Amino acid sequence: MTKIKTQLSAISNTIKEAEKQANKPANSVRLLAVSKTKPAALIRSSFEAGQHCFGENYLQEALTKIAALSDLNIEWHFIGPIQSNKTKDIATHFDWVQSVDRLKIAQRLSNQRPTNLNKLNVCIQVNIDNEASKSGIAPDEIIDFAHQLALFDNILLRGLMIIPVKTNDTELQRQSFIRAKKLFTELSAIYPSVDTLSMGMTADMAIAIREGSTMVRIGTALFGQRDSVQKQ
Ligand SMILES: *Cc1c(COP(=O)(O)O)cnc(C)c1O
Repeated sequence: MTKIKTQLSAISNTIKEAEKQANKPANSVRLLAVSKTKPAALIRSSFEAGQHCFGENYLQEALTKIAALSDLNIEWHFIGPIQSNKTKDIATHFDWVQSVDRLKIAQRLSNQRPTNLNKLNVCIQVNIDNEASKSGIAPDEIIDFAHQLALFDNILLRGLMIIPVKTNDTELQRQSFIRAKKLFTELSAIYPSVDTLSMGMTADMAIAIREGSTMVRIGTALFGQRDSVQKQ
């Protein structure tokens, strides 16, 4: 087996185990491979090993890779901060945007989504711990924000994306995940298109799944440490 095949199967075992513990059906939690800073060739070999959705944070870097891999049927997720002058490229080249937290950005994504493509799938990024310096909508503003998003024609609300506070206190993290799950349940009762609770990264994927995640975003455990933080 190639290294990437080994890593993929290790992660899929972790996911299966957590699904079992959470009494969820097997394969109900999706794996998003976070490939920021990693080369297109590695994405290609992951695809060949069976991984079909990838997440990117930095637009310029992502566009280069998307072009290099255009012969593959990859589902691309944008998961980084969004500047308004970048929305056209994001709306054109991605299938999902998980980091929507401003109305103006959502409106631009909708207006700029090419009409020959399916609606752009979006998640609302939630600032689940109300951290001062963190992106995301405050938990008590999500429903209002979702009502506004529903007015835009070319985006489809799929769920919530959360990044909990950085801490070694797993109980604190669990509480964040539990609150996120509750918000997700409320939102999906109003909007049937909402089916995705994106939470859990390398360090906390098992606990996130046990508390209701439907999609984990994994970089380090799959591709190894990121040695450079790339900026656009
Ligand atoms: C980088 C990143 C990840 C992946 O984190 P790892 O700890 O490497 O698994 C997940 N989500 C977001 C939003 C990221 O920016």
